[in-house]
Amino acid sequence: MEITDISGCVLLNNNVKMPYFGLGVFLTPEGKEVINAVKYALDCGYRHIDTAALYNNEKGVGTAISESNVPRKDVFVTSKVWNSDQGYSSTLKAFETSLHKLGFDYLDLYLIHWPIKNKIKDTWKALETLYKQGRVKAIGVSNFMKHHLDEILSIAEIKPMVNQVEFHPYLIQQDLIDYCNSNQIQYEAWSPLIRGRIDEVELIRKLAKKYQKSPAQIVLRWDLQKGVVTIPKSVKPERILSNSQIFDFKLESEDVKMIDRLERKERIGPDPDDIDF
Ligand code: NDP
Repeated sequence: MEITDISGCVLLNNNVKMPYFGLGVFLTPEGKEVINAVKYALDCGYRHIDTAALYNNEKGVGTAISESNVPRKDVFVTSKVWNSDQGYSSTLKAFETSLHKLGFDYLDLYLIHWPIKNKIKDTWKALETLYKQGRVKAIGVSNFMKHHLDEILSIAEIKPMVNQVEFHPYLIQQDLIDYCNSNQIQYEAWSPLIRGRIDEVELIRKLAKKYQKSPAQIVLRWDLQKGVVTIPKSVKPERILSNSQIFDFKLESEDVKMIDRLERKERIGPDPDDIDF
């Protein structure tokens, strides 16, 4: 992946361009807060916003984009079908609800939020329908392990373009990254900042000193140098800006490898094989 600037993109397996850096809005309240966060991010140059039906802030995301000076076509927006809506016809319906809340006539990326046993194949077929109808530019999954991906690949007419999973120095899952890469499925990180705990990681603090950057900037740059799309969340203008200032330095490959060695297989979120929601 060639890293240029905040609007730089990866090319998905269907040739759609996806900015490798974006803003996450999980736990960002609907209304004023999400509108302000998204508008400020767009002002800073962000061109990728990650929401979901579950986050209950799609309306605000859509409002912020429509009120901004950035044309809709220049912003890459992701949403996700929630677990209780999975299945063929209920996914089609959930998509319409999300699109309506966003106020859009198409979505850039639609993901299956979590792998739900016995629903994966039907839900994927619904995403393929939406894709073929041109309602969504790219389709993918989230929180899928190798065996979940295999289930989709066994029936897919259209391969997933993205897998969005928990990813940070304590949960790297290099074998899953390699599997996705070998299937042209773009790896995308959620909770890249360990949900705000990144400052606690000693090596990251040391590297922050070495490069004169913040711990968040070090780890976000590491994401990109590993070829992983990243979507840090913040509602604070100073952090929205500083998180994006990662295009004026490069980690030495030895430092990338040192961060890789922090892997502990430690999740802050649920294990996709053991969810009860
Ligand atoms: P992040 O790792 O992005 O961390 C967000 C937390 O870190 C917030 O509390 C934020 O607080 C704080 N923070 C932001 N910037 C900094 C900084 N520079 N220094 C210190 N703390 C900082 O966690 P998320 O879980 O939000 O993950 C990112 C995005 O990934 C989500 O918003 C969502 O879009 C997506 N996601 C997807 C999931 C899925 O199942 N597909 C699951 C979870 C997340 P503040 O806002 O106060 O700055």
